[in-house]
Amino acid sequence: MEFANFNVYLTGLIHKNSFKKQFVFDSAELINSGVQDPLNEEKYTKVNGLIHRYPDRVVLTVTNRCFAYCRFCFRKNKWKNFSGFELKEVINYLKNKKHIREILISGGDPFTLSDKQINDILFQLSILNSIEVIRIGTRVFTSNPQRIKKETVAILKKYKPIWLAIHINHPDEITKEFKKAVDLMVDSGIPIVSQTVLLKGINDDHRILKSLFCMLVKLRIKPYYLFGCDQALGNEKFRVSIQKSLDIMRKLRGNISGLCLPVYAFDLPRGGGKIVLEPQNILDKEKNIYKIKNFEEKEFIYNDI
Ligand code: SF4
Repeated sequence: MEFANFNVYLTGLIHKNSFKKQFVFDSAELINSGVQDPLNEEKYTKVNGLIHRYPDRVVLTVTNRCFAYCRFCFRKNKWKNFSGFELKEVINYLKNKKHIREILISGGDPFTLSDKQINDILFQLSILNSIEVIRIGTRVFTSNPQRIKKETVAILKKYKPIWLAIHINHPDEITKEFKKAVDLMVDSGIPIVSQTVLLKGINDDHRILKSLFCMLVKLRIKPYYLFGCDQALGNEKFRVSIQKSLDIMRKLRGNISGLCLPVYAFDLPRGGGKIVLEPQNILDKEKNIYKIKNFEEKEFIYNDI
């Protein structure tokens, strides 16, 4: 699945290996053992665009467009087929589910929408008393930071607690443009956490990650999750084994403060949900086949690399 459109900002950085490997198609992606929809999101889609997998929170996918298309994207099945969303339908669903207290606005990248479109979505969601927190998942800071303007920040500031969860995988992604956009947000009181995907040949080294996480904390961004790469089509070349991932976490733990340390987690196949790998969740292991218990105490088989 070749799909690339680089904006001016990324074009200036794509010569760096850390960018090239993340965004430029490589024939190794054709070796395939992954699946179209690794998180089984279709099953949990309640109305167009709205995924309700966990009891108290939902994901609203507002677009399938991004500023760059990560080769390891777990939603690459949506790059060409996206059924959109109807805000009215979403609000009606949420109105009847008072126990949902958090919504993650995701995509694609929500910041590919105009400020006005973002404002309209936030306005409608903020009317719902049951929604206590809005999170926005985005890669804009690392793929098109100039998109973040004072006007954009002013819109976010108007609404109920908004947290930004930014996708960043390598210290090279921290540029002066990135810092400027982050400062605009944080100085306005909008908290930022980071999400990093552990990627073979890109950041699967505790020294690279240590540098990334320490730089983020310095910029007032809390490293939140280090994710295992999902088993989507074409992702085999990016996957790091569980054993190596745990080893990286162990080395990090001994080398950086708790503030700099994210949680290591990955998604179980067939919609098993997100799991933080702790010894009590591993029920059995034979060679590279793990039997893992999810948050609902259900058992899932996980084929490691
Ligand atoms: S930014 Fe996120 S949604 Fe967009 S291509 Fe990358 S992983 Fe997929």
